[in-house]
Amino acid sequence: MDLKEIYTQVIMVHNSSTRNKRHVDHPTATIKGINPSCGDEIELELRVSPDGIVEDVAFTGVGCAISQASASVMADLIRGKTVAEARHLEELFFGMIRDGKLDDDIIGELQEAAAFSNVSHMPARVKCAVLGWHTLDQALEASKAKDGGDE
Ligand code: ZN
Repeated sequence: MDLKEIYTQVIMVHNSSTRNKRHVDHPTATIKGINPSCGDEIELELRVSPDGIVEDVAFTGVGCAISQASASVMADLIRGKTVAEARHLEELFFGMIRDGKLDDDIIGELQEAAAFSNVSHMPARVKCAVLGWHTLDQALEASKAKDGGDE
C-alpha cells in the first residue's frame, strides 16, 4: 500500500462526496470550526446516544479539498463508535499529524484517515487536516456536558 497514492484518491473521492455533508437529526451538539489561515469553515453536528454511542455525525461548510475530505473521512470512521473509541481515534490522528506517529496498528485503526499522514510533511496544510477532528473534539465535550453523563 502506498499511502501517498491512497491520499490522493481519498481526497478526490471524499471532497466530491456529499454523503457526510448534511444535517443530523436531533443533534446533541452543533459546533463550528474555523481555520482562518486557509478560509476553511465547517459546522459539525453529532448525536450521542444516552449510552455513549456516536449515532450520527455529519457536517456542512466550505473549504479546501483537504479540510472537507478529512472531515468526511472522520465522519465515516467515527459514526457508530463509542465516545471513548472516538477519543482514542482522535489521539491517534493528532499523534500521526503532529508527531508523525504511524505504524501498521495505527493504519488499521485509522483506515482511510491514515492517508492524511502525508500532511505531516506539509506544515501549511496541517490545520486543514485537523479541522474536522478538532471540531469533533469540541462536539464530544459539548454532548457530554449536555447529557451530564460520563463516557
Ligand atoms: Zn484548508
